Amino acid sequence: MTKKKPSDVQHEIRDRSCSACGAACCSHVAIAIDKPTCKRDYGNIRWYLSHQNVSVFIDHSGVWNIEFATKCDHLDSKGLCKIYEDRPMICREYPSDDTFCVFETTEPPHTDKFRSAAEFEVWLDAKKINWRPKDKKPKLTDRNK
Ligand code: SF4
Ligand code: SF4
Repeated sequence: MTKKKPSDVQHEIRDRSCSACGAACCSHVAIAIDKPTCKRDYGNIRWYLSHQNVSVFIDHSGVWNIEFATKCDHLDSKGLCKIYEDRPMICREYPSDDTFCVFETTEPPHTDKFRSAAEFEVWLDAKKINWRPKDKKPKLTDRNK
């Protein structure tokens, strides 16, 4: 029996799973963003996350991404691409030969994912990152003590 290269195995899985998956990869847009390093950046991410259907995640390479959970208009009711022959290059290239798509592996595509500003703030606090726009001043009542 010939030992298959991982990519051959992967293509077999892919051929089977694409028809069964419900087009998970056509149901969101993910765009790489700069890693946040200052209060303005943390504030921007808190602002993104204050909107519905927006999340931010860090992938396994440490790249930060913003994700919009929204279906592509070209999906038909069966989860197939209506413009398959003319689909954009980004659709043709996903997933690449050396990566698994979200449906092909049980490993999540991220190391961290934030679905709300509150989740992100908890993460920042755990890392002892000072993200608050203004440092807390003592309350008037505290000063009078
Ligand atoms: S998520 Fe994976 S299995 Fe599903 S349609 Fe996209 S490439 Fe195919
Ligand atoms: S254009 Fe087609 S392949 Fe690309 S995201 Fe839309 S439905 Fe999916």
